[in-house]
Amino acid sequence: CGIVGYIGINDTTEVLLNGLEKLEYRGYDSAGIAVLNDEGLNLTKVKGRIAALRESVDASNHATMGIGHTRWATHGVPSEENAHPHQSSSGRFTLVHNGVIENYQDIKKEFLAETDFVSETDTEIIVQLVEKLYEKYENTAEAFRQTMKLLKGSYAIAMIDAEDPETFYVSKNKSPLLVGIGDGFNVVASDSMATLKLTNQYLEIEDKEIVLVSRSQVEIQKLDGQVVERTPFTAEIDA
Ligand code: GLU
Repeated sequence: CGIVGYIGINDTTEVLLNGLEKLEYRGYDSAGIAVLNDEGLNLTKVKGRIAALRESVDASNHATMGIGHTRWATHGVPSEENAHPHQSSSGRFTLVHNGVIENYQDIKKEFLAETDFVSETDTEIIVQLVEKLYEKYENTAEAFRQTMKLLKGSYAIAMIDAEDPETFYVSKNKSPLLVGIGDGFNVVASDSMATLKLTNQYLEIEDKEIVLVSRSQVEIQKLDGQVVERTPFTAEIDA
């Protein structure tokens, strides 16, 4: 299982597919990508191999931001419906997640009693909760932050807000995640191996930090909103 996220100038679809291929060694049963362009969000999911995902995506679909996922099913069978990315009911928020949300039943009961779920995953509650909390905070970063505060368990998460093509949202707890710094683009991945072709400059993310990733900037925050400064390290390339 693994995640990749990208915002930049290149062909996002190819960057995501290539990144997922590099993460295949981690094991998975299904895969998917979501890319955002002027025409909206485009979602492709398959049960099975990245090769099958590659065949299903529309390669002519140019986009400058996207997220990708390989799934190792923990909650819900391997299927196209349970494959990530998952979306909120309105379709505005789209999210990938590696790990296990331990309190997903509690969150469902407390905040999402009226929500219609389309998958059997623990993951779907995360993206539905962001949408629910957005109603209250009317700010995506704040809704994302408040959602992360409520989650218990392990996660590496990347989320797109279809109303904002300039930023994607990332967080982690007990699951690996790195941010890669590029010239005119930025990436995130479970393992730098996924994106070493693009950059060797990486930022480590600590548990429960929130990262706002845009084309030219990466802002790391603590859960209370305090901004954190971090120096990139150089990853070894031996490929
Ligand atoms: N728990 C999530 C699911 O079953 C994520 C699994 C993973 O880490 O790939 O969909």
